[in-house]
Amino acid sequence: MSIVRAERDKLKSIIRGAKRFARLSAETAPERRSDALYYRMLQTYYERIIRAHGEGNLIVAHTVFFPEEVIYAMDMVPMHTEATTWMITLFTGESAGVVSAGAELGLASEICTPHRGLAGAVATGVIPRPDVVLWSNLVCDNTAKSGELLVKLTGAPGFFLDHPFKETPEEIAYLAEEIADMVRFLEAVSGKKMNWDRFSEIIARMDRQLELIREINELRKAVPTPFSPQGFMQLLTADYLFPGQPEAIEYLTALRDELAAMVRSGKGAVPQERFRLMSFFLPPMYLTGFFEKISREYGAVSVTEPFFTFWGEGKLDPSKPLESVARKSYMIPEMRMYGPLDDRALKSINRCARDYRIDGAIYYADVGCRHACATIKLFKDQLAEMGIPMLTLDCDVVDPRVTSEDEVREKLEQFFELLEACRHGGKGRTEAAEAIGIGIDVGSLSTKAVIFSGREIVAHAVIPSENESEASARAALDRLLSETGLRVDGLPIVMTGTGGKSYETGYGRHGINTCLARGIHHLYPAVRTVIDLGAETTAAIRVSPEGDLTGWENQDKCAAGTGLFVQQMAKLMGVSLEEMSALSFRARSRAEISNTCAVFAESEVISHIHRDPPTPMPDLAAGIYASMAGRILAILKRIGVEREVAIVGGVAKNSGLIRILEEALGFNVIVPEEPRIVAALGAAIIAREKAGGGGS
Ligand code: SF4
Repeated sequence: MSIVRAERDKLKSIIRGAKRFARLSAETAPERRSDALYYRMLQTYYERIIRAHGEGNLIVAHTVFFPEEVIYAMDMVPMHTEATTWMITLFTGESAGVVSAGAELGLASEICTPHRGLAGAVATGVIPRPDVVLWSNLVCDNTAKSGELLVKLTGAPGFFLDHPFKETPEEIAYLAEEIADMVRFLEAVSGKKMNWDRFSEIIARMDRQLELIREINELRKAVPTPFSPQGFMQLLTADYLFPGQPEAIEYLTALRDELAAMVRSGKGAVPQERFRLMSFFLPPMYLTGFFEKISREYGAVSVTEPFFTFWGEGKLDPSKPLESVARKSYMIPEMRMYGPLDDRALKSINRCARDYRIDGAIYYADVGCRHACATIKLFKDQLAEMGIPMLTLDCDVVDPRVTSEDEVREKLEQFFELLEACRHGGKGRTEAAEAIGIGIDVGSLSTKAVIFSGREIVAHAVIPSENESEASARAALDRLLSETGLRVDGLPIVMTGTGGKSYETGYGRHGINTCLARGIHHLYPAVRTVIDLGAETTAAIRVSPEGDLTGWENQDKCAAGTGLFVQQMAKLMGVSLEEMSALSFRARSRAEISNTCAVFAESEVISHIHRDPPTPMPDLAAGIYASMAGRILAILKRIGVEREVAIVGGVAKNSGLIRILEEALGFNVIVPEEPRIVAALGAAIIAREKAGGGGS
């Protein structure tokens, strides 16, 4: 089978991209020879695939964490399926297309996009059709099923490598025997014999490769760290594509030497290192450039990845190549997270947090990866015990439709504010003065503005948001100024909210959660947990005794539990929001409503209204609130509840919902008199501080 033209063109796009980056690196940062070597590796990898058939070699597709050393030793051409799909989406921008193509094949949305995308990429000819398919149950069942599908789609002969999860001498011996079977299979389909000497050489080099990665990790411990903010993706690629290959040794040696030189001269990877981060899982591939840019902007560097670059102990023995590749597969960092989750995973987190002196962690929570996402709370709690905050960034590795760059920026900036606040712990704020501060919170449905002076809210305004965020901010400000007779010239104004970037005030913008923490602390200093029920999002935040944000969780990918959801439900019932709230107090029981999906909830409400006899309206209203309460509690549990608890945001005005939430919580909550302006108040307090007028 030869590579068809369309497939060759896609691979050529990667090759062209890699060549361009190699040239750019050599021109702009000649001292970073490793960058050019990295891109040359990519180029070599895909050139080999293009040339394979012409040179009489077989293309062997294999899934992630596969003993690829065997393929190299048999002089065949490996093609890492997941990595190739990522590279194609990265270099050709085809991510959404291949994921949609996977869905058209009938793959359910429950299947993660790396595998939906992979199936779509094979079906549409985006990645070359292999001659042989090798796959295993690493890293999860999705991989195992995906390999089967690949065999079906391509018609190529396939071999499934059964990888035991547990690590015992018996299981390592079993895996070595499985790999020996695979060698026999490859010999049969290719007519080639395994070259055992070459296999041993590759194992010897792989052992050296592991040593180099460990040396690089040691160097990354330096403060400031010398390795680039998102450099770990390169380390992964070297391991995924070139295990035990001279190209990887050359790249890693050059990188190690460069990092060592930087450490000797005290030079860091970013101009000013401010935040040392731990990373879990993979950032969205299509935002690679953006992550590098924002990391440099904020001096935030990933210094350790316990489950990607932090290899297990042990050495490989070239005289026993089969046993060595079996043993190596248990040293793979990911095995501690994706294999049977035991205390090795948590110990790695503790060790990395301590040794790499991290300030915070980011969990790139791929919304389609239930496997990885199941560990979010566990890891977050583990880090919290060490006083280290973790950001859960809902995203998708492949599909750009899940999270935009703006959303990611908003969350990261907020997280960096939080890390900064953790550092100063509320110190450095001085007590009240008569100066004025103005805060404006531009939300999707309403815009709120507050003037704060001394220790009081002098005036506030809440107006419907206009199409243009800037116009909304100006209109809210005009309202305040006309009420108070103040003039805007020179007044400190801090912006927040989803449209907070639209209006340049000279005093900047702060994340909504930081502002909420400051605002609620001013109103109710005893509050430690805030639930923000906004128009489109639900968030739960934690506040320190000093009024600093210490953590948060939010839900912005599902409408259930938000203001828009309750509005829609009231509309379906044909009542106003106030009537719906009043109805719920008269309920005798609660209608059963799904609390997991807004779309399902809507069809359930319709069926309650149209059944014979219809569900009584009070029971329906109470059922809707109960479903919202379930959703809100789920978010709350992710950060943990500490009393006092306050509820803010437009939905907090709904007393029917508050009553049901209080029942579910088992205690009363605080609802500010005007729950919509708390973030604007926090922004106004920060504005006054920035102008030198002290805090509250
Ligand atoms: S671990 Fe997650 S992303 Fe990876 S294959 Fe499994 S479900 Fe997909």
